[in-house]
Order: sequence, then structure tokens, then C-alpha cells
Amino acid sequence: MDLRVDPDRLRADFDALSGIGGTPDGGVERTTFSEAHLAARTWFHERARAAGFETHVDAAANHSAVLPSRSPGARTLLLGSHLDSVRRGGRYDGALGVVCALEVLRAIKDAALDLPVRLEAIDFTDEEGTLFGTLGSQALAGGLSRDDLASPRGGRELLVAELARQGLTEEGILAARRDPGTIAGYLELHVEQGPVLEQAGVDIGIVTGITGASSFRVVFDGDARHAGTTPMDARRDALLGAAGFVLGVRETVTRDFPGCVATVGDVVTEPGSFNVVPGRAILQLECRAADSVRLAALEVALTQRAHAAAEAFALDVTVKPVGHWEPAPTSATVRAVFADAAAALGLSTMELPSGAGHDAQSLAAITPSGMVFVPSIGGVSHDPSERTAWEDCVNGANVLLGAAARLAEREQATSVEL
Ligand SMILES: [Zn+2]
Repeated sequence: MDLRVDPDRLRADFDALSGIGGTPDGGVERTTFSEAHLAARTWFHERARAAGFETHVDAAANHSAVLPSRSPGARTLLLGSHLDSVRRGGRYDGALGVVCALEVLRAIKDAALDLPVRLEAIDFTDEEGTLFGTLGSQALAGGLSRDDLASPRGGRELLVAELARQGLTEEGILAARRDPGTIAGYLELHVEQGPVLEQAGVDIGIVTGITGASSFRVVFDGDARHAGTTPMDARRDALLGAAGFVLGVRETVTRDFPGCVATVGDVVTEPGSFNVVPGRAILQLECRAADSVRLAALEVALTQRAHAAAEAFALDVTVKPVGHWEPAPTSATVRAVFADAAAALGLSTMELPSGAGHDAQSLAAITPSGMVFVPSIGGVSHDPSERTAWEDCVNGANVLLGAAARLAEREQATSVEL
């Protein structure tokens, strides 16, 4: 079986998609449910229908294209990624995985293969976290609770307003869960977003696991007072606590948690003016670790650090969790299938962990899941200058295709055994 994707058709799709929400600097901006994001999803369904596939939208607004199987009771093999982007994002992140998934379905349909699995190319809702972060894939995997939705990363008000605007409900999101027994596996192609593959001169990365992450809103409270009349020793300056904490985060991670990362990505002060001592500082904190024990320990250490910084400047502090993603090892079966597919194409591979979160993290909780990475030029991502050599994109698409076909064969073997 010598299956290959059609590189010209894939290129035409990728270029057309890059123009939707395209920015003059060569990037894209398709934040969740923005006009450009919705247009990209419509475009995906139009391309899928033009190729003769059924299309579906579930209660979490995940968009799918389906190539059915004639085998009765066939399970679904999901191939996907996401069409949303960060603000001022790159054109490859997520989008490449979705167009490659669609191209895999077309290549299998063109070859007139009837696989013993139902193949589904899926564009998951809000992977990047404008509202929540991997919202659609967690909904599908049944990983969400009402409590989770109560404290979303983008703020509760925004989530409620955006769901209503799209005609979605929290009940719907919670009901979008699929029975894991109907799913055969999940495969995702993504750009590496780091420099490892390029530096090693390797074609394809096989992801061993996806790092866990936790995010928090940290609020320091002091007293907003006149900046001219309040003596230095009589202040409760919230920004001083925040500053001490930011430096403390770096010290704690580099000293006690090698291999982990933590970031304060935003600080907003109130009232925020030249002549008032800041009464409040609101910080966005995120930390990541490859295993859950380390992640839990890191969360505790950073929370202690926040309390120490508050005490040092006579402030009050609250540390509120606003999102948690468990570390997710990928399936050994799926890794082997990716390696076989790449070897058959004469491509070099290496195993590597993913420091970035992905939809595969959600799916790994319920079905054999795995990811392949293609090299990112200069390791750049989440930026308009994000690029991957086109040859690498085509290689990745062919590996995804080969892996899907191989997993489908195993499905047949499994059903025969039964
Ligand atoms: Zn992504």
C-alpha cells in the first residue's frame, strides 16, 4: 500500500486558510469565535463537503468532517487539531494539523479504501485559551465539570457572553462528551514550536508526552494612597509585592525545579496612575511540569512564594486556580505506528516531549493518542514569523496518513480476534 497525500491540493488548502484572518506581517489572528475564526471553520466545512464528506458540529462547537466505514459498528479514529490562534499568531500552529487531517481523509477516499474505522477530521474549539483552553477537546473527552467552567482562564463573564453569542450552553458543553468505547484513537500533527528538531536535523518528532500546566490569578491587595503625602514607610504598595513575587517565581523554579517552567505573563495594577500608590496588583501565573507529582509540588511552592511576598510588604494575597491540564503520556502503540509510517517513507525520527499543551492531552485520557511534530524554523511559534519548510509539512502529512492506515489495520486485526 503506497498511500501519499496530494501535496498541491494540501498547499492550496493551506494557503487559502492562511488568508482567513491573515495579517500583513504573514501571521494570522483567529481568536476563538472572532469573525476570522468562524470564517475559517466555515471554510473547513466547505472544503470537506466539496470532497464529498459528511460534516458535523457538536454541542461544544467542534467541527468535523467524516469518512464513514462500511464495517458495522466501526469505531472512530480521530485526526485533528485547531483552527483558532493566539492574538498575532502564526499560520501553522493548529491549522496545519487540521488541513493535513482533511487531506488524509481525501487521500484514503481517492484510493477507494474502505477502512474498518470511521475516519473523522476534527477542528477543536478554543485550543489556545481565548476563553478556556482546550475547551472543545476536553468537552469531547468528558474532562470538564461545572466547577471548571466556573473559573475559566479568560474570565467567567467573557465565557458566558461568548457561549451565548454562539448559541452554545454550558449544559451542551458538558453533554458533548463521547463514549470512549466508540473511539479507536486520536492522532495529531502539529508544528514543534521549539528548536529541537531543526537543531538535530531530524524530519519528524514523535511526542512522548505532553507537559502538564496550571494557571492562577494572583491578586495582591494593599492600600491605594496619595503618592505625594504617604511616607515610604507607611505604604502598602501592591505592586511591590507583585514585583517581589515575579522575581521569586524565577528563583524558585530555577533553584528547586529543574526542567520545569513558570511565567508571570501579565500584571495589571489598580488604580494605575502616576500619583497613586498601587492598591491592587492582578497577575496571571502559569507553571508547567512533565509529571503530576512535580506539578503539584511546584504549585505549592509558588503559592508559598506569593504568601511570602505579601508578608514582606504587609499585603493581602489570594491565589485562585483558573485552569489545570494534567500531564499526558502518549500511547506506546501510537508512537510505534508513527515510527513505522515514517520509516516506510525514509524519514528520520526522534522522540521528544511537548512543552506546549495540545488537544491530544485531553484525548489521551480516554483513547490511545499520539502526536507528530514537524520542525519549526528557528523554533519560533505564537508569532507571525512562525514557519515550517513546506517539504516538512508534506512529510508530516504523509506520516499522519501512514499512521492512520496502520492503526486502522490493527483495528481489523482486533475485530477478527473478537
Ligand atoms: Zn496549537
